[in-house]
Amino acid sequence: MPDCLFCRVLAGELPSEKVSATERTYAFRDIAPAAPTHVLVVPTEHHPDLASVAAADASLVAELIAHAAAVAEKEGLDGYRLVTNTGESAGQSVPHAHLHVLGGRPLQWPPG
Ligand code: AMP
Repeated sequence: MPDCLFCRVLAGELPSEKVSATERTYAFRDIAPAAPTHVLVVPTEHHPDLASVAAADASLVAELIAHAAAVAEKEGLDGYRLVTNTGESAGQSVPHAHLHVLGGRPLQWPPG
């Protein structure tokens, strides 16, 4: 998707701080971290949100979650939060499916 920000990151057209990658997923640091560890895990294939990934290929959702868990372990987190925002009113600003991996400080619940 030429106009998709994360597709451009994945294509190497925009810089990213890579954490790790698998055949179908990519993890990189959020440009505006909301916690000491804030990593985004995305499918390399374009999908607008996580539910669209689930509808197209449920195994890819499992891969994204497994990759997020591997990131948390690699970062040495003793606990972490996975967030996916869907739709502008929920705070989704980039319409390419992604999981936020957040940790490294106590996280408030419920979130604001
Ligand atoms: P969301 O608002 O849930 O769609 O999450 C999008 C996230 O992407 C935000 O936390 C942004 O800070 C982050 N972001 C936007 N552009 C970049 C970029 N070029 N590299 C890394 N993270 C980015």
